Amino acid sequence: MQTTETKSKVKPIDCSHYINGKYVPSGSGKTFENINPATEEKLGDVQIGSKEEIDQAVSTARKALTGEWGDMPLTKRSAIIRKIGDVILERKEELAILESLDTGKPLSLSKKVDIDRAAYNFHFFADYMTTVGNETYQQDDIAIHYAVRRPVGVVGLINPWNLPLLLMTWKLAPALAAGNTVVMKPSEVTPMTATVLAQICSDAGVPDGVVNMVHGFGDTGAALSSHADVDAIAFTGETITGSAIMESAAPTLKKVSFELGGKNPNIIFADADLDDTIETTMRSSFMNQGEVCFCGSRIYVERAIYDEFLERFVAETKKLKVGDPFKDDTNIGALVSEEHYNKVLSYLDIAKEEGGNFLIGGTASKGFEKGFFVDPTIITGLGPDSRCVREEIFGPVVTVIPFDTEEEVLEQVNDTNYGLGASVWTSDIKRAHRFGGKIEAGMVWINTWFLRDLRTPFGGMKHSGIGREGGAHSLDFYSELSNITVKL
Ligand code: NAD
Repeated sequence: MQTTETKSKVKPIDCSHYINGKYVPSGSGKTFENINPATEEKLGDVQIGSKEEIDQAVSTARKALTGEWGDMPLTKRSAIIRKIGDVILERKEELAILESLDTGKPLSLSKKVDIDRAAYNFHFFADYMTTVGNETYQQDDIAIHYAVRRPVGVVGLINPWNLPLLLMTWKLAPALAAGNTVVMKPSEVTPMTATVLAQICSDAGVPDGVVNMVHGFGDTGAALSSHADVDAIAFTGETITGSAIMESAAPTLKKVSFELGGKNPNIIFADADLDDTIETTMRSSFMNQGEVCFCGSRIYVERAIYDEFLERFVAETKKLKVGDPFKDDTNIGALVSEEHYNKVLSYLDIAKEEGGNFLIGGTASKGFEKGFFVDPTIITGLGPDSRCVREEIFGPVVTVIPFDTEEEVLEQVNDTNYGLGASVWTSDIKRAHRFGGKIEAGMVWINTWFLRDLRTPFGGMKHSGIGREGGAHSLDFYSELSNITVKL
């Protein structure tokens, strides 16, 4: 059961920048300590990049756009991208361990979700690029118009801590597939797997200078997003950071793609298959300690089944085991950092002040001398204006509110600045289409949650994002189209 042995197979790493095919330290010599959130032990040192390293990485990426990478036939580029996915799978155990050490998430989850999906991101875009075509129009006998794609150029990839490798590869794979060069800025909170990823790209055959990485905090990210020689920024993170990036990117008119915060509703009608609903609601509430942007943290339940739902939901939540991410029976690991832990706990205090009833949880987990563990928490009795119902908590905390009519719940569901995801549970097919289509969210799941097909548009509306990723949408962001008109 105990998997300390597994953990000790892989040593945590120090994290250096990766520029022009080499790991390099900061010119300033400044570093910070990377902390394991489950033990509060130091994992290693991380270099703090400044404008100096960003300048080096950007100019290296600019040079690498031409020459070997720029001239590479698509079939070869695609084979290299596929190979990156293969190497990720070969190194799955090591990457999963590093991811769990860094984030505090259960090792089983790292393996099943984060690493497999990271590999698939490369496999998907390797195939996608070799099968996709461009627009062509014949204008009577006057002209033929066809579009050609070229890379955008140097792209900055700025990422958060919740799904570190999965989200970095979700951007890196299409960016490379479209022929760009990149500078990655991983989250300061979880820098390890991106550090290994840089080497994996090189081992798979990506020429030096194409993939670069600079570690650091928000000001390192700002140096990247404001850089005059960066053509586009793909960012995933908090809404407020998205605003700051938009501002800093504005003077140089960069393309931006934003995947931002959410406060996603999970709407359960009385005719839903309750077994299925509860099984999935357990995941949509507490998977990854609730640190998934799509977690359904606002649960609305039709009054006829409200009591039954709560009874069963609470009973299932009681079975969850909070603990060491490296134990096989752990369902909920540690929150990612002390700062985030304090933020989540502060929302539990707010819920108390607002008069919420805690059906389960509501405190830091007992029995841990170290580490940032919070019990899965279900709160009722909060109204639509409660801060816990309106603001993104990003932890294992959900609120449950009863409703009587479709109109009433729709109003509450859409009464938010966010518009990322939503789940609807009903066995009435007409209602599913009618109601699902009225939710103001980029992703609406009917009788499921977080079910993805990488060809579909992925992203949020309102304050949850700008643009979409996935299949053709990623390709559109990571490439520029030129229309060629040939007069007949
Ligand atoms: P964050 O915005 O604090 O940080 C994200 C990244 O931005 C980090 O690498 C950080 O160093 C960098 N950064 C911070 N300030 C910057 C600035 N001024 N300029 C440039 N870069 C800057 O987000 P976080 O706390 O790491 O992640 C959690 C957030 O991410 C949540 O809001 C969550 O909903 C969101 N998220 C969204 C999605 C999605 O697909 N929509 C997916 C995952 C996470």
